[in-house]
Formats: sequence, structure tokens, C-alpha cells
Amino acid sequence: MRSQIKLGSVFGIKIGLHYSWFLIALLIVFSLSSQFHSSNSNWGDGVILTMAIATALLFFVSLLLHELAHSLVATANKLPVKEITLFALGGVSQIEKNPTSAKIEFWMAFVGPLTSAVIGGICLTLAHLIGNPSSSPGTAMLLWLGYINLTLAGFNLLPGYPLDGGRVLRALIWWKTGNADRSTQSAARVGQLVALAFIAIGIFQFFRGAGVGGLWIAFIGWFLLQAARESYMQVGVSHALEGVRVSDVMTRDCPTVDGFTNVQNFVEHQLLRTGQRCFFVMNKGEIAGLVTPHEVKEIDRAKWPYMTMYDIMRPVEDLRAVTPDAPLQSALESMSRYDLNQLPVISNGHLEGLLTRAHVLGYLQTHAELGR
Ligand SMILES: [Zn+2]
Repeated sequence: MRSQIKLGSVFGIKIGLHYSWFLIALLIVFSLSSQFHSSNSNWGDGVILTMAIATALLFFVSLLLHELAHSLVATANKLPVKEITLFALGGVSQIEKNPTSAKIEFWMAFVGPLTSAVIGGICLTLAHLIGNPSSSPGTAMLLWLGYINLTLAGFNLLPGYPLDGGRVLRALIWWKTGNADRSTQSAARVGQLVALAFIAIGIFQFFRGAGVGGLWIAFIGWFLLQAARESYMQVGVSHALEGVRVSDVMTRDCPTVDGFTNVQNFVEHQLLRTGQRCFFVMNKGEIAGLVTPHEVKEIDRAKWPYMTMYDIMRPVEDLRAVTPDAPLQSALESMSRYDLNQLPVISNGHLEGLLTRAHVLGYLQTHAELGR
């Protein structure tokens, strides 16, 4: 989940919105307007619309506070947070490293629902102090925010990993067994059960006439099921990659091409003939850049005879590289973070080889086939 709209940063943590957030903001504004219309028809359209928008914005702030709570506990424990993204189903904090102990994991997860519960409690208390809910728009707003934040706290405490409650469960299993990987897999299994229950309840509600509400529950279940499955598999992958270095998996014989070769000749004699997907462009024995079918496709076919590899390559300065002794796990992480299919392996300014996603997949496949 990457944010598409940047909102700035709080405590050095970037805040962003995913487009799907607008969907939920609109839904909240519409459903609140119709709710206020039926319960307090004397308020007038302007008041109702303003209130609905203000409530949606305050809901956004309370979601943000929930995520900030997670992130601040993370940074306090030296786990860097890349950014917070708000989307249709709530928020995610992108925490770059895994917690180093069960205790950190527990507090990092628990503090989110705790924050929502506290916000919910404050809103409800204020609403009751101010007075009769039907008389004032402010009270109606506080009541709605109070109940929604308490619901949010309750929902997030469900033991469905990777929901907060699932992380709390994982921390507890980790603390009991001392095994971080196994605890993730157990929590992910419980997460799958919770997700299946959501789907079943959603479908049941739908056929009992709950309509869209039922489908919404089933959809959340489906989303949770994917997330739980992914976490389960990630543990398996990171386990298989443990102790493996880039040099163990990379290929050493990378095809090279002279920088002055024209693109037409390159395509006909090297790219199509060899079926290789990645070529190093050489300049006097030094690597100058990298060319893949992607760079070739960007160029109009008619221009191929008039351009050289230097014109179309990605220069070496722009390439992200890894060293041969880097852990494969971290190389894989930077591949997925920057959406790359290959990484040149460079040591002391010398090209040592090439690591591609296909290599890593081949490695995992071999291990999976032999069951180790
Ligand atoms: Zn949370």
C-alpha cells in the first residue's frame, strides 16, 4: 500500500493518502448526512453538510493518531518508520524493520487500539457532559466519533494477524515459546480463521437481507485472508533465505555489449538470439550502464539503426547495486522496494555479477522441492 498524495510529516514521519481513502470519506459524508437528515430534520442542509464533512475530517485525525501511536513506539525502539498511509480500510504504518523482542512487538501493536479506545472514551464523555444529543450538532458529532473509535479499537483487537490484535497474539506466543518465526505462522493461521469467519458472516448477512453491509464484511474478510496468507508465506521465504549471501545465488557470466553498438544490431544479434534479459554496456573494459528489453521498447523502432547503447542505457550512476557479501534477504527487499527485476553486483567498483528475481525464485524452488 503506497500513498499517492503526500500530506507532509509529523515527528519526522511522512503522512500520505491512498486514493481509496476518498471513497471512504465520501461514504462517511453521505451516510452521516442522511442519518442527520432523518434524526434532526430541523438543522438545515448547510449545517448538516458542514457537520458531515467536519466529522469525516475528525475521523481521519483519529485514524492518524492511532497510526502515529504505533509509529512512535516503533521509532522509540529504533525501528525506522518510512511512512503512514491512510486507505479505504484504515491506516498502515510502514515500519522498516521487524521488532527485536516480543515486548516491543506487544506494545507497538497494543498502543494503536488503546489510542482509539481513549479517543472514543473522551468523545463520549464530552458528549454526555455537553448534554442532550438530539439538541446540538456538536454532541451528535462527538457521539458518532466516540462509537466509531470504540468500534475501531474493538475491531483491531480481533486476533486476526496482521490486525493489531493478531500482532498482540503473535507477541504473546513469541514470549511463551521464544520462537519468532513459529509465532508469526501460528498467528497467521488464527488470522486465516478469523478472516474466513468474516467472509461466512458477511455472506450469511447478505442473504438475510443486510445488502451492501454484508458484502462489506465479506470483503474485509477477503482482504484479511490475503494479508494473513502473505505473512505466512513471508516467514517461509525469509527462513529459506537465512544465511544466504548474494554471491551464492548471483550469476557471474553476464552478457556484455560495447557502448557503440547500434540498437538495431544489438536487438537482432544479441537480444533476440540469446534470450538474455539484461546486458551490461561496456566502455573500455569498464561497465558504463545496463540495458534490458524495457529500455529498447521505450525507443521508437524506426530510430533503432541511428542510436547506440550509450543513448538508451541506464547509466551506472543511476543503478542500485549490491555487494557480493550482502544478505540475499536485504537484496530482495530493496528489489521489491524499488520495483527492480535485477541488481548488478559490484565490489570495489568491479562488476562481479548479476542478481535477478529469477535467480532468487530458482533458488527458492529448488529448496521447496527438496523440502528444506
Ligand atoms: Zn493499528
